[in-house]
Amino acid sequence: MSPSSTQLIIEICYLVATALFILSLKWLSAPSTARRGVWAGEVGMALAIGGTLLHHGIVEYRWILIALVLGTIIGIPLGLVQMTAVPQRTALSHACGALCVTLVGTAEFYLASPYIPPFTMSVLCLEVILGSLTFTGSLMASGKLQEILPQRPITYRGQNFVNLSLLAISVVLAVILVLHPGQKALFPFIIFIPLIFGVMMIVPIGGADMPTVISLLNSYAGLSAAAMGFVLNSKLLIIAGALDGSSGFILSVIMSKAMNRSFSNVLFGAFGQVQTAAAGAQETRTVRSATAEEASSILAAANTVAIVPGYGMAVAQAQHKVRELFDALSKKGIDVKFGIHPVAGRMPGHMNVLLAEADIPYDRLLDMDSINPDFPQTDVVLIIGANDVTNPAAKTDQSSPIYGMPILEVDRARTVMVIKRSMNPGFAGIDNPLYYFDKTLMLFGDAKGFVGDIVRELTGGSGH
Ligand code: NAP
Repeated sequence: MSPSSTQLIIEICYLVATALFILSLKWLSAPSTARRGVWAGEVGMALAIGGTLLHHGIVEYRWILIALVLGTIIGIPLGLVQMTAVPQRTALSHACGALCVTLVGTAEFYLASPYIPPFTMSVLCLEVILGSLTFTGSLMASGKLQEILPQRPITYRGQNFVNLSLLAISVVLAVILVLHPGQKALFPFIIFIPLIFGVMMIVPIGGADMPTVISLLNSYAGLSAAAMGFVLNSKLLIIAGALDGSSGFILSVIMSKAMNRSFSNVLFGAFGQVQTAAAGAQETRTVRSATAEEASSILAAANTVAIVPGYGMAVAQAQHKVRELFDALSKKGIDVKFGIHPVAGRMPGHMNVLLAEADIPYDRLLDMDSINPDFPQTDVVLIIGANDVTNPAAKTDQSSPIYGMPILEVDRARTVMVIKRSMNPGFAGIDNPLYYFDKTLMLFGDAKGFVGDIVRELTGGSGH
């Protein structure tokens, strides 16, 4: 094949890949088109890799093959993790991408130094600084979420000053390198200082904020890839990096808003410390508990039921049992809806994905703003493994760390039933006053087992 026709094929592959990446993001934003979005992203990435492999500049395929095999060996188990481990798995992907960007930038520098124009050197520095800090930052974030590292924020006096100084030193070195690209001895410093900054940046952030931080690191990884696109003169990388960078940023903003937190508060606020002060005050209060038989009679007598799922439903993998419950109640003519909080679970869209997997109709899934006005007319709210997203302290207790976070206002319903295993707090580590209300019944047990028991009671012991 002539070089010009190969070039044409490469350009077409890149053009189609770019279009597919954009469509993928668009389709991923609605549950009904999300599967198509995943396919579009996968086909786009296959085309991008295929087009790149056709480049005439490649003289030796052996190393690429070894890298492909190694990548596949690492990638397959990463794709098989439990849904609840997806945030930390995503952080690992960012770490791999960021390491790759840093290595490519380093190779480009040593190949071209000292003949690097100021613009190229500027984006190369940006690429390496962002890549290095994203690499260690993502590893730290992943370790915290996987609980390999302590989840609590570690803070000390002058921490923000130390962190910002590290970043400032890297920027000053980058400026010197832009002016004097032959200063090869300085280059390692714009790798190692941001590597340390990445660790220091995550140390003061608590586990509860880690998903938001991971989304921000996603944005950094995208921006560093876009910078690499400028260095390598690849339009595809620039576009894909910009899409990644902006979508990660938008997601972090949405998550912060849903928790009523500002970015600076997430990054510097040391949220997520275990709240021990309030725990003692709750000890004397009592809760009312009920059995699956009692819970099923209350549900069967209701006209309207709202189910509020949370992280506990995800860990228990109870979504299919919840579908059976939905069917059993609907068969009795009961109007059943689901109330979905934007940060229920451990990643954005967590509940939507699980309920879609169980084939619960999309039109039964209502977001927080749509379902909140309905709660006063709802006979029974059944909370399945959700806690923080229903905590009324967010509205009433100014001293609460989640004060101001918008919640599902389940306390306005006539009866509230809560399935969880104990009185342990949720991710924010704080007590939930809802459990002590007169209208609340605690259903202690594993989400999957308890919902299964309720279904059996409702269906006269037949169950599925
Ligand atoms: P949550 O507040 O963490 O509460 C989950 C509850 O599920 C726990 O209280 C736990 O109580 C219960 N549970 C655990 N395993 C269970 C099982 N097998 N069966 C039954 N219950 C079980 O969860 P959430 O209400 O979904 O709130 C999400 C939290 O994550 C919020 O604080 C949110 O800000 C934070 N967050 C989420 C995101 C996101 O993107 N989704 C991002 C950042 C932060 P027991 O131990 O007593 O069973």
